Amino acid sequence: MTQAFHNDIVDRLTEIREAGLWKTETELTSPQASHVMTGEGRDLINLCANNYLGLADHPALIAAASEAMDTHGWGMASVRFICGTQDLHRQLEQRLAAFLGQDDAILFAACFDANGAVFEPLLGPEDAVISDALNHASIIDGIRLCKARRYRFANSDINELEARLREARDGGARHVMIATDGVFSMDGYLAKLPEIRALADRYDALVMVDDCHATGFMGPKGAGTPAHFGLRADILTGTLGKALGGGIGGYVAASQPVVDLLRQRARPYLFSNSLPPAVAAASLAALDLVEAGDDLRAKLFENTAYWRAGLEARGFDCLPGEHPIVPVMTYDARRAQELAARLLDLGVLVKGFVYPVVPEGRARIRTQMNAALSRADLDAALDAFERAKAASS
Ligand SMILES: *Cc1c(COP(=O)(O)O)cnc(C)c1O
Repeated sequence: MTQAFHNDIVDRLTEIREAGLWKTETELTSPQASHVMTGEGRDLINLCANNYLGLADHPALIAAASEAMDTHGWGMASVRFICGTQDLHRQLEQRLAAFLGQDDAILFAACFDANGAVFEPLLGPEDAVISDALNHASIIDGIRLCKARRYRFANSDINELEARLREARDGGARHVMIATDGVFSMDGYLAKLPEIRALADRYDALVMVDDCHATGFMGPKGAGTPAHFGLRADILTGTLGKALGGGIGGYVAASQPVVDLLRQRARPYLFSNSLPPAVAAASLAALDLVEAGDDLRAKLFENTAYWRAGLEARGFDCLPGEHPIVPVMTYDARRAQELAARLLDLGVLVKGFVYPVVPEGRARIRTQMNAALSRADLDAALDAFERAKAASS
C-alpha cells in the first residue's frame, strides 16, 4: 500500500467518524430471536431484526436444515448448471413460485444478487427502466448493469411516474419496466401498487416489485404487497433472509420464459455458487409455517399496533403506516446514535439509521416488530424508550 493511499483511507474514516456516521456492530452470542445475548452476557430485547415471523430460531427450520445436511451434505461446490442443482433447489423454486402465484422461480445467493441479475438479461438499449428514487441499493446497482435507458421518479410520486412513462414512450422505447420496492425499507411505506399497475397497463409497461420486506406477512397468506392490493406484479424479487427464516438467499419469480432466460443468462446465477442444501430445506420448512401462519401474522400486526400506539403516546415522532417497520425520527444523525446507545444501556437493541442508508437530515431509529415479541417485551421496551428520551432532554 502506498503511503498516500493509506493516508487517504484513514482520512475518510476520520470524516465518517466525525460526521457521526460510524456504524458499529453488536456481537451476539445467541440465536437471532426476540431476546439476544451479547458477549458480555447481557440479555437484550431485540427490536431491529427482519425476523418478522420469529422463524429465525424455529426448531422446525433447524431440524430441516440438520436433516438436509445428513441426506444432502454441506456444500455444493458448484454453480447450478454444472453440478449444483439438487432436488431441494428445484422443490424450493417451484414452491416459491406457487406461493407467489408465478410460473417459476430462480434462486440466487441473496436478493442483492437477484436484483443485480434481473435487469441486464431482460432489457437492452432499445428498452427503458423507470425506477423509484428510494429503491433498494441492489435495484439501483442492477439497473446500472443493464443497457436500458434509465428514468427515475421521486418516491411514490405517481404524477412523475406518468411523466417518465410518457417520456419513455415518446422516446420510442421497445419495452418499458417500472421497478419498485413493495415496501420501502427505511420508512415502512408501501409502494402505491394499484396506481403503478394501472399506469403500467395504460402505457403497456411491466411491473417489477422487490418484496423483501413483505413476503411472508403482507397480504393474504403472506404472499406480499401485490397480494395485499389484490393485483399482479410481472416480476417479483425477494429474500430468504427476512421473514422466510432469515437464513440467506434470494429469488426472482416470474413467467416461465423470463425465468428460463435468467437461468441461461443471469450472471450472478451462472458465475456464483449454489445455495447449500440446508438453506433450501429450511426455507421449504419456513414456507410450510408461513402458509399456515395466519396466527403469526395476526400476532405480528397486533404487536405493531401496540408498539406504534405506545410510542406515539410517549411523544415519539413516528412515520405513519401499518407496516411492522416503525421508524422513530430524530432527523439528526448524532441524536439517533445517542438514543440507540442509551437504549442499548437500558437493554434494548436498536440502531441509529444515518446517512448513507437514509438521506441526510432524515436520521432515525428504525424499530421493527416481530411475532415472537411478547407484550411484556414491548412494555419493557416502551419503558426504556421513555427513560432514554427523558435522559436526552
Ligand atoms: C434486504 C433487501 C434486499 C437484499 O436482500 P438480501 O437477500 O439480504 O441480499 C434487497 N431489496 C430489499 C428491498 C431489501 O430490503
